Amino acid sequence: MRARGFRGTIQVVGAEEHLPYDRPPLSKKVLSGTWGEEQIRLRGQRELDALRAGFLLGRSAVRLDVQARTVALDDGPSLDYGRLVLATGLRPRTLPGTDSLYGVWALRSLEDCAGLRAELLTAHDVVVVGAGVLGCEIAATARQMGLRVSMIDRSPVPMLRQTGPDIGRLLSSLHAEQGVRILMGSGTTGLTDEAGRVTGVTVKGGETIPADVVVVTIGSVPATDWLTGSGLPLDNGIVCDERGRAGVDLHAVGDVARWSHGVAGDGLRLENRTNAVQQARSVAADITGAEDGYHQVPYFWTDQYDIRMQVFGWVWLSCREL
Ligand code: NAP
Repeated sequence: MRARGFRGTIQVVGAEEHLPYDRPPLSKKVLSGTWGEEQIRLRGQRELDALRAGFLLGRSAVRLDVQARTVALDDGPSLDYGRLVLATGLRPRTLPGTDSLYGVWALRSLEDCAGLRAELLTAHDVVVVGAGVLGCEIAATARQMGLRVSMIDRSPVPMLRQTGPDIGRLLSSLHAEQGVRILMGSGTTGLTDEAGRVTGVTVKGGETIPADVVVVTIGSVPATDWLTGSGLPLDNGIVCDERGRAGVDLHAVGDVARWSHGVAGDGLRLENRTNAVQQARSVAADITGAEDGYHQVPYFWTDQYDIRMQVFGWVWLSCREL
């Protein structure tokens, strides 16, 4: 918005304690220890200062009142707004009943990454539950750290929804060649534990795979709980038009936004960094009066072992493939 000449006040509220950082390296370079926190900061302090934006960190938005144009925070006074951009992203799904078990991890934040890495450094057996993009990247990193890795998914091949069955089969072979035990088409029936610490994952068929650490990467849900009752259209994300408009002077952007795409149609929601950046530019353009909807070709990349895969567009799957 500053680049487009916006001169008003900008206030950024974030539940995390950190200034903006890049998430894609968390499952790769940060988890492996190649990069530290410094390398993933999205902007240096000088660039952030030049934005003349206020950053309210470690604070969560808990309620939106569209009539009064206020956002209530978990602590302190509410914020008034002239324009509001909702970019609350996703929350990882968890396996029911496992929240209090030691050794069971999700990976979303820097803290998750530091905690998971610390445990991987002394672990021998890791089970990754869920073979989507995140699961595949973590499995590759853990293998490169020398751990025994098993990856379980109820789908027939890894990354089925993102790349379809043919590429999925190649990914299966890639991970198997690298020594990952792949258990596809087999969901988990539960975790085993000893004195509150995970010891294994039981799969359909009854086998229990030993685990010092279990990483749960079974997808995410849009972080919209706090918007319930606000009157905003919520349906697997915040429903908006092709410009990211979800209400009067109100936009949604990134993983949480479900918008109308000129080619893919209504209700597209993408979970990747490229979309978040491009859509943010489009929303900033709309707020500052430019005339362009958001119709980018979806794109993401993933690094697994020494392979970089780039995916353009989207995959339609038939019921048979799912
Ligand atoms: P995901 O890509 O949705 O994959 C989740 C996988 O877990 C799916 O294959 C799903 O199968 C499977 N699954 C769901 N429930 C299961 C269960 N109970 N047991 C076994 N398997 C189960 O989500 P993700 O990999 O967790 O990624 C989380 C987020 O990080 C996403 O937003 C992702 O885009 C983002 N991310 C992106 C990148 C990148 O762009 N390079 C890298 C890392 C992370 P079904 O499809 O049948 O449900």
